[in-house]
Amino acid sequence: MSRPEHRGIGMTSERTRERLVQRLRREGIRSVRVLEAIRNTPRHIFVDEALASRAYEDTALPIGHGQTISQPYIVARMTELLLEGGALDTVLEVGTGSGYQTAILSPLVRRIYSVERIAALQQQARHRFQSLGLRNIRLRHSDGGMGLPEYAPFDGILVTAAPEGIPRALVEQLKPGGRMVLPIGPRREQVLVRVTRKGSGYDKELLERVAFVPLRGGVL
Ligand code: SAH
Repeated sequence: MSRPEHRGIGMTSERTRERLVQRLRREGIRSVRVLEAIRNTPRHIFVDEALASRAYEDTALPIGHGQTISQPYIVARMTELLLEGGALDTVLEVGTGSGYQTAILSPLVRRIYSVERIAALQQQARHRFQSLGLRNIRLRHSDGGMGLPEYAPFDGILVTAAPEGIPRALVEQLKPGGRMVLPIGPRREQVLVRVTRKGSGYDKELLERVAFVPLRGGVL
């Protein structure tokens, strides 16, 4: 992370990032590894230059195509929930978007498969991963509601757009004991859920209220 544009200045400096880490800690994020990943990842390169000065506020921001980069607190919380059970080998992410959540996961798992339905967003994310030197990420342009059967089963699945209910296809692509963290429900009534695969069924924990863009079918 030695490139000047990654280091940032002023509102995008390391000091600004450190303030975000302190804030997330106050908001209840406990995982040292997750906080470290947030500290080391320049969020300002995941948004348009015009928004770079706001990149370390704890808010979602527009990334074009009607989509948003998730709020840092939610990224940290979902990552922490996914990792709580121990080390993860392969993870599926549905909704690459800006790629920020993917970049946070990258140092914490062996391999990530990330699926995005909007090709233009996927292209931008790919360039960001290249410039950061992140090599354990595989991107797919497809409808992630179906999962990625050819690479299943996964130790973890993280969904960053909200379906109305828990997609069965995704549960079936979890290893026994594997976990999936996802928002479910209609706009303004979503809840964050953690699903743990148990035999042919699963356990479900309802965690907190959240606001995500909807999971949509088809590709663009
Ligand atoms: N983790 C991303 C969140 C982006 S918003 C970030 O922090 O930037 C959610 C993303 O999910 C959007 O980019 C949207 O295009 C994508 N998405 C929605 N439905 C999808 C689907 N069925 N398959 C794959 N991606 C989907």
